[in-house]
Amino acid sequence: MTDLYSPVTDLKGIGKETAAHLEALGIHTITDLLWTFPHRHEDFRLKDLAQTPHNERVTVECKVEREPTVLFLGRNKSRLQVTVLAGRHLVKVVFFNQGYLKPKLIPGAIITVTGKWDRGRQVINGTSVVFGPKTDQVDFEPVYSLKGLIPQKRFRKYMRQVLDEFGAELPDAIPQHLQDAYKLVAIREGLEGVHFPLDAGHAKQARRRFAYEELLNFQLRIQALRKVRKDNEHGTVIQFDVHKLRNFIASLPYELTNAQKRVVNEICKDLKEPHRMNRLLQGDVGSGKTVVAAIGLYAAVTAGFQGALMAPTEILAEQHLENLMDWLQPFGVRIALLSGSTKAKERRLILEDLANGNIDIVIGTHALIQPDVVFKRLGFVITDEQHRFGVEQRRILRDKGENPDVLFMTATPIPRTLAITAFGEMDVSMIDEMPAGRKQIETHWMKKEQFSSIMTKLELELAAGRQAYVICPLIEESDKLDVQNAVDIYEQLATFLKDRFHVGLMHGRLATDEKDTVMRSFSEGTIQVLVSTTVVEVGVNVPNATFMIVYDAERFGLAQLHQLRGRVGRGEHQSYCILLADPKSDEGKERMQSMTETNDGFRLAEKDLELRGPGDFFGRKQSGLPDFKVADLVHDYRILETARKDATELLETDAFWHDRDYQYLRKMLEQSGVLQGERFD
Ligand code: ADP
Ligand code: MG
Repeated sequence: MTDLYSPVTDLKGIGKETAAHLEALGIHTITDLLWTFPHRHEDFRLKDLAQTPHNERVTVECKVEREPTVLFLGRNKSRLQVTVLAGRHLVKVVFFNQGYLKPKLIPGAIITVTGKWDRGRQVINGTSVVFGPKTDQVDFEPVYSLKGLIPQKRFRKYMRQVLDEFGAELPDAIPQHLQDAYKLVAIREGLEGVHFPLDAGHAKQARRRFAYEELLNFQLRIQALRKVRKDNEHGTVIQFDVHKLRNFIASLPYELTNAQKRVVNEICKDLKEPHRMNRLLQGDVGSGKTVVAAIGLYAAVTAGFQGALMAPTEILAEQHLENLMDWLQPFGVRIALLSGSTKAKERRLILEDLANGNIDIVIGTHALIQPDVVFKRLGFVITDEQHRFGVEQRRILRDKGENPDVLFMTATPIPRTLAITAFGEMDVSMIDEMPAGRKQIETHWMKKEQFSSIMTKLELELAAGRQAYVICPLIEESDKLDVQNAVDIYEQLATFLKDRFHVGLMHGRLATDEKDTVMRSFSEGTIQVLVSTTVVEVGVNVPNATFMIVYDAERFGLAQLHQLRGRVGRGEHQSYCILLADPKSDEGKERMQSMTETNDGFRLAEKDLELRGPGDFFGRKQSGLPDFKVADLVHDYRILETARKDATELLETDAFWHDRDYQYLRKMLEQSGVLQGERFD
């Protein structure tokens, strides 16, 4: 008997050839077919051309005004053009290679045309035409990604057949009480709305149901994985000394911000508990993550454990060392630095001291994950700028202790929707407040024509003893061109500032030690202007740098611009960021505008997500974001939150694990592997 799991070949009218095409589209069973959702809907509602933006698809009813003309463009190619009256607009409709339409386009005839509206030229580039007024045509028609293998119309015919035949036996994974609570349409009605929407409202209701279903499934998997890991992975109880910790915090040169206090509490609570900490700490550039890390590490030390802090570059590691020494040495904490340039003899001593417990906290680069680095009792591991390390590198460090608590820090603000999706199985802490008295960086969006006034301002800053970064244009996927640009700009500036100020150059083609040398000279002030590609190190702290110029700023995403801008504004002096940009698109203009309006990384991140979508937000690779069919992380924020809450609650109930209502959700979980503690994709 044919059922939902039967191959599509069981359907009437699907032969070998069609089956092969469906196969190529990943459609094997009848269920696969039903779950092939359209990527858009063609909107056949009649529109007024005056209200239609350029390049949008329209359907209009119109009257043929003149005889069409057909132009032959060589072999089998032709262009038919006809003047029509659509409402009050006299416009042209163009069809390619459809000369056969000509005899039917008689002046005076009423036709319904669909096509793309070229507003500037007042032309509709026609894709389909119905002879007569719009009558029985549907308003919305789904369009599937079929790679041209199967005609849309035929695909819809199969879909109709399947829905008619199997509609009654479709299993509905969403339990009734949740459907009722959110007024979601049932599965059959939902699939009708996806594949055969009667109108916009119908399609929208269907979409809402499947977005919820998708996000509920996803959150169930994430939350179940978290629960399984929490129940099975026994972490270490780090019973720190509260009094010592309070004394230490009181000794700091400033009072913690409320956000820092909250995050310190979250971390300390995790340390004390038996499950293993797996936490992401997000905080904008300059929000004060280092001191939070120091407090956490010290807590572990007071309980007799060792701590490790891994940073992506030597300079960052050295900066951390300086800070932690200042703060913690007075409390008798023994701290060491381990990096690629640690001398062999010193390294041997450090390794010995780590192994026998004479060092409490080690700070370092990748050098920390070498096999011969062994700890006596590693209890707490922190990774700074976590995205700069691979999963494997982070795991190696973690495995040097026995289930040590783990904290990842990142200065890239990630909108909450993305954070709980991409890092769903972690706990997320946010420092969403800046230390008081921080000066806002003044950001200006300027054009290249204003260059001389920018140079004047730059010279003023340099003359006052300040330093500047000049960030070179980003040329996609061409490291070589990036470097060329940087060299050109470097030479111009060096000539311009000759005999007065020193200019340095930094780019990806330099060797690591060359980069370090340049960076150090800038940090020590022997270089006043640093021309650089975007390799300029994240997290680097040169408080005397107060001026930044970003070339072709429109090529950068908001998150990246904000990261770059964070290199200035780190000291007591007022800082400036000049965005040289001439964006062509509205979106680009909006990005520049946003940069001048706010210094708040989280707000910019939300804006970036809204403007560019989740795919571009992380960059394509390794986003950790699942491919949703329907759900959209930008707009379905509330659905995501709801699904997350529901998933967490459901997993705690007995009913979920036993009742029939939940059988399909349970089955989904069983098949995903999360109940065995595996990460799913
Ligand atoms: P990031 O989060 O970017 O790593 P840092 O930890 O480097 O930021 O802190 C940036 C600067 O702010 C440092 O100079 C740090 O000492 C200072 N700072 C951190 N917390 C506070 C606070 N609560 N009040 C005042 N200054 C602070
Ligand atoms: Mg930092």
